[in-house]
Amino acid sequence: MFADLHLHTTESDGTWTPAELVREARKAGLAAVAVTDHDTTEGIEAAQKAAPEDLQVIPGIELGASSPRGDEVHVVGLWIDPGYGPLQERLAVLRQERIARIVRILDRLADLGIFLSEADVQEFSHRDVLSRSHIASAMVKKGIVQTKKEAFDAYIGQGAPAYVKRPKLTPEQAVELILGAGGVPVLAHPGLLKDLSILPSMVQAGLIGLETVHHSHSPEQEEYFLGLAAELGLLPSGGSDCHGPGGKDEIYLGKYKVPWKWLADLAKKREGSQ
Ligand SMILES: [Zn+2]
Ligand SMILES: [Zn+2]
Repeated sequence: MFADLHLHTTESDGTWTPAELVREARKAGLAAVAVTDHDTTEGIEAAQKAAPEDLQVIPGIELGASSPRGDEVHVVGLWIDPGYGPLQERLAVLRQERIARIVRILDRLADLGIFLSEADVQEFSHRDVLSRSHIASAMVKKGIVQTKKEAFDAYIGQGAPAYVKRPKLTPEQAVELILGAGGVPVLAHPGLLKDLSILPSMVQAGLIGLETVHHSHSPEQEEYFLGLAAELGLLPSGGSDCHGPGGKDEIYLGKYKVPWKWLADLAKKREGSQ
């Protein structure tokens, strides 16, 4: 039995609705999935309602944080309580900041002679959660770039001319927020980080898991992070981080998964901490 503990839906920047996601997960033979949308818990209930009896849906989230040197750090929370007040308050603030940031990115693109309206971007998001991924889709549609990846590399990715930083949680705050919501905090895709200097203070703050399995990790990285997790007393976790078809990546659902034992160990750790 296998689980995928990192997945996105249309509630953030994925292209499958929560109901489609659980259907696809079932087809892929998974026994459990965690719905971990960026900075929102909106997809959890719909996924749980749509799930067949033999598919467990774990309520989750992926919080975006920023390291002291400005690197994006993502922290996945598993088994969070979506009703935890301080979490929802924080998410509301993050949403407002996210919208302000999109407007600033569009301004910068306009300075570069690329004119996109908020409505052009909105077209690709069925909710009010706009992301750079939606800007990239609008740029492809307008023929400004061929692919979403090109949009990130040439315009809106970190270090590109229209990139705008946004105020974010610190990695430690993200860990604490997830613990407060009764969840298990896991550092997402460490292989994408420029350096791992943030790890000790995250462990200090109560980090429980480290994603060793992720579609961006090579077999060597997977091996390395398994060793690192053991060394730091962290539990291994992971998943596909699939965003569905038509996204910036291919479909990874079913290809990157973790054994049931990992899920059981993470769940046990949570019970132990409560
Ligand atoms: Zn991420
Ligand atoms: Zn993700």
